[in-house]
Amino acid sequence: MKSFSIEQTKYKMLKRQAIPFKTKYEVFSRDKFRCQKCGHQGKSEELEVHPIKMKVNGGEDEEINLITLCSICHYYAPDDEKEFEIYLSEKIEGNILDTFRKSQKSISKRTKKGMDKRAQAGNVVTRAPYGYKLENKKLIPIEKSYLVQEIFQDFLNNKISLTQLSKKYGFSVNGLKKILTNQTYLGKIKFSGQIHQGNHQPLLSSTLFNHVQNKLEKLGIKFIS
Ligand SMILES: [Zn+2]
Repeated sequence: MKSFSIEQTKYKMLKRQAIPFKTKYEVFSRDKFRCQKCGHQGKSEELEVHPIKMKVNGGEDEEINLITLCSICHYYAPDDEKEFEIYLSEKIEGNILDTFRKSQKSISKRTKKGMDKRAQAGNVVTRAPYGYKLENKKLIPIEKSYLVQEIFQDFLNNKISLTQLSKKYGFSVNGLKKILTNQTYLGKIKFSGQIHQGNHQPLLSSTLFNHVQNKLEKLGIKFIS
């Protein structure tokens, strides 16, 4: 029997939620920003992309397996594929749910406020980036954290493509790009598009980080935020 630590479970949960923005947008557009159960039409922050077949059952994060639901219909959706089919076919009037929508909005606002506060206090809001681990909600450098600086220097000083570099260190190209542009390594925390001073130990000097940003820009490599 495999047992999972809390960190692993948390990681899995985050991973499950991480559907790329582009895919999300494509699903919303296809469904005309309408919940496919109650017909509620809303802004993207009121909507969720919902998997028809759950990931744990082998469902993919692909358009064909994803459907637009409002946050309420998403919340109550059954996990089982067959049950979900029935759930989806039982249409309800979107305006019946409007009172719930209002109270839910204030709840999510409150949650976001709490997260903002945590970021301002310099604490982590998401999972640990490469080179760190989370311990008591704090970012602690791992034993091999020196590799972060090595990767940055390797990229800066050598004629090596991102593809080669990512293979060398065992990342995907996108994963590597995220590392090379991650301001967490400067001791900072990014949340809601704002940079906050973190409480954790930086792994890089700002000089090295900035040189790498310049090189990325010169190579025309798009940043992922
Ligand atoms: Zn709905």
